[in-house]
Formats: sequence, structure tokens, C-alpha cells
Amino acid sequence: MLVSEARDFLRHAKASGRMAHAYTIVAPPRAEGADFAKFAMKLLACRGENAPCGECAACRQIDSGAFPDAFWLRPAKKSRIISVDQMRRGPPEHRNDFDPPYFLTWLGETALLGGWKFGIIEFADRMNEAASNALLKTLEEPPPETLMLLLTDTPQALLPTIVSRCEEVALTLPPAELEARHFEPLMALLSSMDYRGPFAAHAYSQAILAILAKMQAEAEEEAGNEADATEEGGVKVDKDEEKAIVASLYRQKRSVLVATLQRWLRDILAIAAAGDAAPIHYSQFADSLRERASRIPLSAALANIEAVEELSIQLEARNLPDSTVFPYWLDRIDFGGSSK
Ligand SMILES: [Zn+2]
Repeated sequence: MLVSEARDFLRHAKASGRMAHAYTIVAPPRAEGADFAKFAMKLLACRGENAPCGECAACRQIDSGAFPDAFWLRPAKKSRIISVDQMRRGPPEHRNDFDPPYFLTWLGETALLGGWKFGIIEFADRMNEAASNALLKTLEEPPPETLMLLLTDTPQALLPTIVSRCEEVALTLPPAELEARHFEPLMALLSSMDYRGPFAAHAYSQAILAILAKMQAEAEEEAGNEADATEEGGVKVDKDEEKAIVASLYRQKRSVLVATLQRWLRDILAIAAAGDAAPIHYSQFADSLRERASRIPLSAALANIEAVEELSIQLEARNLPDSTVFPYWLDRIDFGGSSK
């Protein structure tokens, strides 16, 4: 459902006393998913008249990430896994003074402000089986006035037993577009790709890698700012955790770049298959797209789409380095340039 519909759905659930104690929010966890989680938290914790007012102390603390009765559980370390060790406190003989806060242990304690407590699991699909099973017990017998929010963009990776105990809110989002500072150089490149072969592929991939290098720098800056804000709130940010956040932010940005390549090649295919009247995504580049579509056979336009899907798998699932994947990929694609 649309974000506005999802908000109304939750407002209605609250008004009619039918809030679930746990929701799976299907959306990018660090973007729209986190925004929606904050909305749900404000809806319950707001002290203003028209919840969420966005202005009371609770609303402002939730927005800035400083609300004391919220726990954001994230995949730790490079493994990118949420382990059972993050979930609950071990037996007394295994405890020490430096124990981190544990998600489920924390959820069972009394709220500092005496109201609602919120346990948010970012990338809930990264819970390993032991962590999922530990969570399951709490989902079956949730502490009172506790809301659990599981954020994920791949709900199919959650255990079915978890899914069945949470109400799902799947957000429908418009396709993410690159910000202008990345979109413009990428489009300039795509509209000027006239040559094929390994040398051209190498040159084009250098241009794409330059955009990706900027995205990497941005991800580092954003994660650094986030860590500073968290540390101002008195919580130490682990270096490995910060690295994991950088990696996750970067992957998100890169996936929008790959989606842009995909839409460009789909536009070429649409015109090659259905002619100049075919509806296309990048209509502002219609002339260039039509010329390109006229220069390649339909089979090549189709092969491009398969290749871009493989590109996405190599980057996302197989985690191969950009510098290996892009030159190889560009060498396979027929962009319909004028010089063959
Ligand atoms: Zn408020």
C-alpha cells in the first residue's frame, strides 16, 4: 500500500484498539522503512493533541533518534548478521561489565518514561535461526505496551513462523531515482556511448566507477554523521558497526544506479519491440533512445535485459567487486551506439 494508506491503516488500528504488537514493514530499512517505523512510534508515544504532532518532546526525540525507550537493533560486524548474542543476556557466569545492551532483555525491562517501548529490527531478514527463535518467544508473549517493528526489504528471507506472528505492512514506493549530481553524468555517459569492444567498455566503466566512488564517499560521510549523532546521545559506535552502515548505505545508492541502467535498457527494448509510440521511463531522452533502438536487433535488446539482471546478482548476491563486474558487463551490452 502507499505510504499514506499505510499511515491511515495504522491510525485506524490505534483508534479502534486493534494495533498489533509486531509489524513487518516491507520497505528499504534505512530509508522509507525507518521513516514509517518512526511514524508508528510517534503515533503511540506522542503527547500532543493530534498524534503524531511532530512537535512534542517525544515526537522530536523519535525523529532525532534520541527517544530513550526505543532500541534499534542492527546487523553488527562485517558478517551483517543479527545473532542471538545481540538478542538476550547470557547466564550470570558469562556476564561482564562491558556487556552490550541486549534487544530482548531490554524489551522486558520497564520503560524509562513509563509509556510505550519500541524494539526496531533493521534488516530483520539478517537474523540467523537462533536469533529468530529467541525473538519468536517474545512475539508469542509480548511484554505489555511494547511495539516491535521488523524492517526488511526481503520479507521472503524471514522464517515463516516469524512472518505469521507479525502483521505485514508492505509499502509501495515509486522507483528510486538518482539524485541530479549522479543522474546527469550517468545520462551524459549513456547518451554518448557510441563504441563497443573492450577498450570502449573500459573507458565507460571508468566513468561509472567515478560516480560510484562519489557515492562511496557520500556513504562514508553520512555514516560518520550518523555515528557522531549517536555518540552525542551517549552511545559508543563500534567501528565495525560503522563500516557495516557505510557498506549498507553504499549498496543502496549503487542499487539505484543499477536500476537506472536497467530502466534505460528497458526503454530501448520497449521501443525496439513496440516502436516509437512505446511508453518509456526516460521520455526526456526519447530521441537518443529511439536512435539506439533502431540500431540493434530485438534479440540484442532482450539480451541486454538479461545481462543487467546478472549484473545485479553479481553485485548484490555474489558481492563481486565493482571494478571487476562493470568492465565485463559493459563489454557484453549493446547500447546501440553509432560506431560498431
Ligand atoms: Zn507529538
